Amino acid sequence: MADRDGVIWYDGKLVPWRDATTHVLTHSLHYGLSVFEGVRAYRTDHGTAIFRLEDHTRRLFNSAHIYQMKIPFSREAISEAQIEVVRRNELESCYIRPLVFYGSEKMGVSPKGASVHVAIAAWPWGAYLGEEALKQGIRVKISSFARQHVNVTMPRAKIASTYANSILANAEALDHGYDEAILLDTQGFVAEGSGENLFIVRDGVVYEPDIACALTGITRASIHQIAADLGLRVESRRLTRDDLYIADEAFFTGTAAEVTPIREIDGRQIGAGERGPVTAQLQKAFFDAVSGKTPKYHHWLSKV
Ligand code: PMP
Repeated sequence: MADRDGVIWYDGKLVPWRDATTHVLTHSLHYGLSVFEGVRAYRTDHGTAIFRLEDHTRRLFNSAHIYQMKIPFSREAISEAQIEVVRRNELESCYIRPLVFYGSEKMGVSPKGASVHVAIAAWPWGAYLGEEALKQGIRVKISSFARQHVNVTMPRAKIASTYANSILANAEALDHGYDEAILLDTQGFVAEGSGENLFIVRDGVVYEPDIACALTGITRASIHQIAADLGLRVESRRLTRDDLYIADEAFFTGTAAEVTPIREIDGRQIGAGERGPVTAQLQKAFFDAVSGKTPKYHHWLSKV
């Protein structure tokens, strides 16, 4: 990733990609506290547009607020910077990664006294779980690792250290020949994927797990809206792993994963073992929305 052409927005300036570096004694590297976002820009008929930019920027600032990190830029400046990064790198469609981290002034658990830095990079990134996955669906394993309890790391914040938990779950799934993991909460109820929220469909109703200890996904919120607008019933409830096994359909949502069907969980086929009809309908509506084909959702798009 480090050896590329292009520019990265770093503390208010656009710097050459290869020069956007930091010291090895960076506090966030040692103690794992940085907050970040994953955002996507898509090509539309009216040029490139960032999907739900303001919502992502708001979540970034909320994450920082929860962890009492003071971002030394305004929300408007950070939103504008994301647009600028896409524009200056001349990207038609891409993934955008804003990252807020503590500098290298000090060691010790307390970050008090360390400076707060912001970097924003953008690069082309296709389907997170592969193009095939979007059509055929993926095979998923329920992880033996639990999602962190709400009072361990706080789930409304998208922080780097949550992903140590995600990495354990994802690695276990991959080592067992699966494509991705689903984590249960500490009580054994379904939480989310390692980097995705989750939905199931049963008897035409779209269910999502209670997201007490999951990230409040922006794609998830979009799917809620789209499903409701299509006249589908959407319900949130506590789901057990066997609720997933007997679902007619299941799918992941996320900025990176977009809408990825799940065709198998723990060796059990889900529904017909392929992308289900409700998933297909929601997936199409989602891709139409992000690429500006649905006027009703134009307010989700920020033109670059
Ligand atoms: N859960 C986790 C753990 C994630 O990393 C992500 C991706 N940001 C999501 C859910 C989905 O969130 P969003 O739709 O906002 O990308």
